[in-house]
Amino acid sequence: MTATPPAFGPTETFPCDENSTPFAVVTLSFAVTREQLRAALAIGQAENAGEPPLPELTVRDTRREIEGYFAAAAVLGSDAELQSVDAVLAPDHAAELDAAIDRAYTRRELTPLKTQQPLYRDGTVTLKTLDHGEVVLPEPAWCTGHDADTVGTLDEVTHNGRHVRAGSIGSHGYVDFLDAFVTHAPYLVQRPEPHPLVSVNLDLNTDADPDGVARIAHGLRAAALRLERLAAEARHLRNGGQA
Ligand SMILES: [Zn+2]
Repeated sequence: MTATPPAFGPTETFPCDENSTPFAVVTLSFAVTREQLRAALAIGQAENAGEPPLPELTVRDTRREIEGYFAAAAVLGSDAELQSVDAVLAPDHAAELDAAIDRAYTRRELTPLKTQQPLYRDGTVTLKTLDHGEVVLPEPAWCTGHDADTVGTLDEVTHNGRHVRAGSIGSHGYVDFLDAFVTHAPYLVQRPEPHPLVSVNLDLNTDADPDGVARIAHGLRAAALRLERLAAEARHLRNGGQA
């Protein structure tokens, strides 16, 4: 195979058999030949007694027939082997496998999203985390608080400063095109953030008459000034709050 061929689907989730309880949907993609597609469609068509006739088959129906064939073949082909292996797993081995499954296929309802109920005291904030339980963390004075946060992992804890905005009046009224704030996630592991950063979000796409463009230019000058102030603030914080 010299190049990756184009990918299509999936069109739907195929149910597992009615006597089993589904736990997760495993999505996979694999390359097939034109001949395999043709044969899979022929089998699907035959199972439907040729209805609807091929010229009337929609693109979605065509893909669903083919995906359905492969899904059924995968389940039927593996089911006996999976059941016989599962029946003879040693309890310790099964527990280790389950732990790996729980890590790889974590289900939302196992970790419901709960809103924080932060406790602020003496420059600290007490937050709940999914991986370290309740933690007491330094709470910088510039942080606007964690009352709207959901409970997540420690590395997701992020201090955000007040939002600074700038915009202009356009044909649909006043629109902010700058939203910026100091942000710091001190507990990130993979891409550590040793110092506060500034989150800069600019959104401006418009067609305007000359007066409108002048108003945008005015708004951008205000945006630039506010960004410079935020940059100075972040620099100040990097110096441990010293000038
Ligand atoms: Zn904070």
